[in-house]
Amino acid sequence: EEKGPVNINTIIDELLMLHEKQLQENSIKIKTELAEALPEINASKNQMRQVFLNMISNAKDAMPEGGTLTFRSWHRDKEVFIEITDTGQGIKEEDINRIFDSFFTTKDTVKGVGLGLSVCYGFIKEHGGDIRVKSSAGEGTTFTISLPAHAGQQ
Ligand code: ADP
Ligand code: MG
Repeated sequence: EEKGPVNINTIIDELLMLHEKQLQENSIKIKTELAEALPEINASKNQMRQVFLNMISNAKDAMPEGGTLTFRSWHRDKEVFIEITDTGQGIKEEDINRIFDSFFTTKDTVKGVGLGLSVCYGFIKEHGGDIRVKSSAGEGTTFTISLPAHAGQQ
């Protein structure tokens, strides 16, 4: 998959536009706090779409009664950060170290096979980035992704 300059804000905007109706139908409110003039990153557009689509899909599953899904982006030095927060069921402490493992799922076999986050992890690492999670059961989950800005930008 070929890489090129990608604005992550654009990817997020496009995905949210595509999915906002479905999210609203599930009583999920969308909030965005996207940085102005976010530096581009050198990335595969398709893989970045896949990463954020997986995040949306997991957040939706975590909020069956609805809630709020927030996307934030900012940059610092030569790094771009994206934070995805949901107000869903959260992740149990005993599960948190396993969520990026292939085939780890807490969902029934129809809904989940446990590959989403391991694929996200692989794509982010392959782009020289990192992905971290913070969660408290019953309150919600935040994923923070960092990616190196495209050379020559800051
Ligand atoms: P799947 O969605 O098929 O279960 P994933 O790799 O996408 O597989 O996620 C693995 C597991 O991580 C999920 O089954 C769930 O337990 C947990 N998880 C991922 N995202 C969230 C989230 N936003 N809120 C709560 N749990 C989550
Ligand atoms: Mg998933």
